[in-house]
Amino acid sequence: MYALGIDIGGTKVALAIVTTQGTVIGRDKLATDQTIEPKEMIDTIATHAKHLLSAHNIKESELYGIGIGAPGPLDSARGMITYPPNLPRWRNVPIVKLMATHFSVPIRLENDASAAAVAEHTFGASKTYNDSLYVTISTGIGAGIISRNTLISGSKGNAGDIGHMVIDPSFGECVCGQHGCFEHICSGTAISREASKLKGTDISTEEAFRLYETQDADIVPYLDTVIERMGMAFVSLINTLDPEIIVVGGGVSQAGDRLFEPIRQYVFRYTLNKDARDTPIVPAKLNQEAGVIGAAALLLK
Ligand code: ADP
Ligand code: ZN
Repeated sequence: MYALGIDIGGTKVALAIVTTQGTVIGRDKLATDQTIEPKEMIDTIATHAKHLLSAHNIKESELYGIGIGAPGPLDSARGMITYPPNLPRWRNVPIVKLMATHFSVPIRLENDASAAAVAEHTFGASKTYNDSLYVTISTGIGAGIISRNTLISGSKGNAGDIGHMVIDPSFGECVCGQHGCFEHICSGTAISREASKLKGTDISTEEAFRLYETQDADIVPYLDTVIERMGMAFVSLINTLDPEIIVVGGGVSQAGDRLFEPIRQYVFRYTLNKDARDTPIVPAKLNQEAGVIGAAALLLK
């Protein structure tokens, strides 16, 4: 038996057939067409899903179900994608109902960071822990919370939307209207935007970290501050949720120890509970595939 995972993002949709052991035996990817109606996009995703299954000789009856991870805000109980900033046309889209016109297996919707948290908890870096937090630092910032081996979803499935906690208002206005959100300061998008301003030319997040390594006089004080702000966010998360481990995924986590080490040091210094100062802060294991594997894992559990 298998589960089909679908991870819907602002730029691409990933699909995977996943075994009960978490192994991906088939995958597909398509671009998210932001110019068409969501229903049309969902029909296209369903067609890709059917082709993927038949290419691997898997019948619908061999599926536990289909899991969908999507950017929030959403309403998981009602199976609706509601207000995702990254999918501007997708407003109150009943995605579970629309997918159910193509498939008769159970279909579940969760926000993408929650799905990734489930993946890391079931098959990845936090597998041996009961209480874990998954934080993704990518174009945006989000988190998934596992407490006592259970996903904490909140009333509608939006728990863990940490990107818009205010960390430092002096960093200016975020897309949400508040000043100084975590995402506005620390996402890949933010780092590239601010590094480009500092250098007067287009700088990617990867390049910013390279300049950091080579002791660039503009980038070092800037990234020191950004990483310290990440430390502040992590301390608040540890104080609030008391996890045993924090798993960090998303593109920016690939910056590695020059990012992780100062965060660990900040956490060591400032967590309120001194027993939590050594909370492991580790890179995600499934990384690029956590989204689809987690979506599938929603049905495997
Ligand atoms: P998405 O948000 O679409 O899921 P990713 O998780 O890949 O995409 O995150 C993309 C962000 O991660 C971009 O801002 C990119 O510049 C940044 N990024 C990717 N690789 C690295 C790296 N090695 N070091 C620092 N930042 C990186
Ligand atoms: Zn915000």
